[in-house]
Amino acid sequence: MSTPQPSPMPPLVIRMHPEDNVAIVANDGGLPAGTVLPDGPAQGLVLREAVPQGHKVALRNLAPGQAVLRYKVPVGYARQAIAAGSWVHERLLDMPAARELQGLPMATEPAPAWSPLEGYSFEGYVNADGSVGTRNLLAITTTVQCVAGVLKIAVERIERELLPQYPHVDGVVGLEHSYGCGVAIDAPGAEIPIRTLRHISLNPNFGGEVMVVSLGCEKLQPSRLLPPGSFPIHDARSPEQGPDNVCLQDAAHVGFMSMVDDIVQRAKPHLARLNARRRQTVPASALVVGVQCGGSDAFSGVTANPAVGFMADLVVRAGGTVMFSENTEVRDAVEQLTSRAATPEVAQDIVRELGWYDQYLERGRVDRSANTTPGNKAGGLSNIAEKAMGSIIKSGSAAIASVLPPGEKLRPDQKGLVFAATPASDFICGTLQLAAGMNVHVFTTGRGTPYGLQACPVVKVATRSELARRWHDLMDFNAGQIADGQMTIEQAGWALFHMLLDTASGRPTWAERWRLHNALVLFNPAPIT
Ligand code: CA
Repeated sequence: MSTPQPSPMPPLVIRMHPEDNVAIVANDGGLPAGTVLPDGPAQGLVLREAVPQGHKVALRNLAPGQAVLRYKVPVGYARQAIAAGSWVHERLLDMPAARELQGLPMATEPAPAWSPLEGYSFEGYVNADGSVGTRNLLAITTTVQCVAGVLKIAVERIERELLPQYPHVDGVVGLEHSYGCGVAIDAPGAEIPIRTLRHISLNPNFGGEVMVVSLGCEKLQPSRLLPPGSFPIHDARSPEQGPDNVCLQDAAHVGFMSMVDDIVQRAKPHLARLNARRRQTVPASALVVGVQCGGSDAFSGVTANPAVGFMADLVVRAGGTVMFSENTEVRDAVEQLTSRAATPEVAQDIVRELGWYDQYLERGRVDRSANTTPGNKAGGLSNIAEKAMGSIIKSGSAAIASVLPPGEKLRPDQKGLVFAATPASDFICGTLQLAAGMNVHVFTTGRGTPYGLQACPVVKVATRSELARRWHDLMDFNAGQIADGQMTIEQAGWALFHMLLDTASGRPTWAERWRLHNALVLFNPAPIT
């Protein structure tokens, strides 16, 4: 055991909202009894007892039964009188009651009175449908996992033999996935993975070029994946002929190499059209940002997620789109979502999606309310409501303008803050946000994950400086500077906003530099036969 050292930085507590009556101790090793808080939300307050790092200190005297507010939300109710300067740990709190999906406040919270944010832009690829790409990629869609091995070899040849001739194309992405013929293709919920694949093929980073590799005998035929009218056409084909498709079982293919050659040849006109495109200046309103967290720690809800939330507000004020997701991490704070809905109809959509997800989990006999882990509590999270608020804070404070079911695609006019209802799994959430039309991804992590996507740049945000130092060539932004007292949440949010615009304009993320990416993972709630 090492002897406790005096903290090298002055005492620092972080309050998440001006109306909060508790703040979080940021210092490594916590703060001892008798500490006088220097400036900030509680100038001159003396700690009555030691408070560990990540834990709450009462900023005011709390009466028995009084709501303890963090993020301006009750994370518990005082079991007894709590004096200002006390450590507010979970044994002093009664947990807020679990929320049913009935009787929720619907669109009760007025939208923040914001002035629009003007004059911010990035350099993007404007598509025919008005969407804007941040990368110029050729995507090759697949109908079934059976073709994945052939496509992989064809993609390697395209990269080696063709890409040097098309210097304005950023890369080739084989959209492979685990979907096979075992799926019950007409079962309830089976449309979700199909529309996910369809909509990923139309992601703005693929420039409206659609090319498919199919097997021939699979249930999910190219015409079902991409029906006439669902995809753009740039050559002489009629919509009824379907997308540009290489079918491996086609009688013209004699031997393996003829399949690979066919895919490589057919890629050329797509590459030529993509190569003719150039970046142009577009307003920041063209950003479609997906926010997500993974590998969270006690500081996710104190540093990285609040900074991302501030950034999200800036994107919304600039007229852009921000999606937040992760059903299981928002469910316990559902009333925060329904009250923030822009209209009662949007609140009803939130209830519908989360109700559907409750039933999906019940079918699998999963207990959503599995409590906070011992690690969460040791880190200062008293209960699931507090944990959920730490995740939701990524969405900032805008009114929720609309709700997107899993696998659906945003309409061009669907701006502002969107609740894209997805599972919390990093890969499934990322895959569904890609289908929605995301052109930049922001991912916060505390424990650390090398997460990346091939189709879209991922800006990774570390919750603490120790991780940012150790993973110096994986993490793009260090929100730990907030806990170090080097930056405010607002400053970090602005820095992230500028980093988003640079990334959207082509500056590679660390994951892109190393060519790190994870697999697409489809959300398939239907049975497998
Ligand atoms: Ca996640």
